[in-house]
Amino acid sequence: MKVLVLNAGSSSIKYQIFNMEDSLVLTSGLLEQIGEVSSRLKYKWLDADGEQQEAVQEGHVADHNEGLKLILDLTLKLGVIKDLSELSGIGHRVVHGGEAFWKPTLINDKVVDAIREMIALAPLHNPANLMGIEVSRALCPGVPQVAVFDTAFHQTMPPVAYHYAIPYSYYKDLKVRRYGFHGTSHRYVAKQCAQHLRKPLSECNLITIHIGNGGSMTAIKGGRSVDTSMGMTPLEGLVMGTRSGDIDPAIAFYLARAMNKPFDEIENILNKHSGLKGICGVNDMREIERLAAGGNLNAKLAIDMFCYRIKKYIGAYYAVLGAVDAVIFTGGIGENGVDERAQICAGLEGLGISMDNEKNAARSREMREISTEGSRVKIMVIPTNEELEIAQQTVESIRSA
Ligand code: AMP
Repeated sequence: MKVLVLNAGSSSIKYQIFNMEDSLVLTSGLLEQIGEVSSRLKYKWLDADGEQQEAVQEGHVADHNEGLKLILDLTLKLGVIKDLSELSGIGHRVVHGGEAFWKPTLINDKVVDAIREMIALAPLHNPANLMGIEVSRALCPGVPQVAVFDTAFHQTMPPVAYHYAIPYSYYKDLKVRRYGFHGTSHRYVAKQCAQHLRKPLSECNLITIHIGNGGSMTAIKGGRSVDTSMGMTPLEGLVMGTRSGDIDPAIAFYLARAMNKPFDEIENILNKHSGLKGICGVNDMREIERLAAGGNLNAKLAIDMFCYRIKKYIGAYYAVLGAVDAVIFTGGIGENGVDERAQICAGLEGLGISMDNEKNAARSREMREISTEGSRVKIMVIPTNEELEIAQQTVESIRSA
């Protein structure tokens, strides 16, 4: 059984084809700069001997329709599939599902309309996701297609966690509430952790920390998301690469007045020029580590703020959950940032969270425990795999439909 996973951005298409029996990635790639003079497709595939090959192709790709056609033709040419009918399903990453979608959903015209209605909530992401769905439905009309929403996993949050303390009518009329994002990743690592702990997910209390260029944390009680740090948009919560995370909302009004700037510009500053980049000028954690090691005080401050915010959320979510089985690190920084993980967990022994520094320092691409033998709460590093989770959810929803 083969499943294609598509993640369409405004000028990019990321894809993978999985063989579902063994979760093997048969081909994967990233097409970027769609619509520009020269577009670039970087792709990998397994050849007839099972060896991984990779190549780059450059040329003009006018739009997403041409882009997906190029990808499908290439996949056929490489022999990954012989015919489009070999695809059992296509899973689409969709950022915002609002309150309408709490699970992966088989796509039909009504679903497309509902995703379109959600554009006001996710103007930066949903239009591109929708474009991906539309071209894929047109090019592969016989293949079942499933939308997998970043927000869906968090639809189990109780009202006390998802409401903002603003006039209630804004929730009723304008859908203003916490939705949360990265749900596919939080769910995937939670499932992996439950398997590792040999416990049903429904009995696991977990704090999942997804930290890459974007970042969010989730409190998972009995396998269900009960709170998460991103809000109505991905701007809330942790200090991120270029997003501010939590700030006093009055700062936005103050800046707009003090600099006489429109709100669009303030929104752009908080999304694209804040976070780690706002503090030290750079958003890549490895580069920030190099700067900090060279004595750059703002780089050090950025790392300290990043870790401190996460530590605060661990405390908050510990209190929400009452008891915690594991704290899980994932995402580029969560999986690789030895020093950040150490700094975040330092001083949490009183909460039963005790890190084994040697295990933390060991490099690996595998799921692993990095807590001491005696640690009441396990500390885990679990590489995320959002694409595989989307593929698995695609299969589940095709089967249940
Ligand atoms: P992601 O968005 O999940 O791909 O994560 C990207 C972030 O992970 C960037 O800030 C990278 O600098 C960071 N990252 C990758 N490798 C390391 C590493 N070895 N140590 C610290 N941060 C890392």
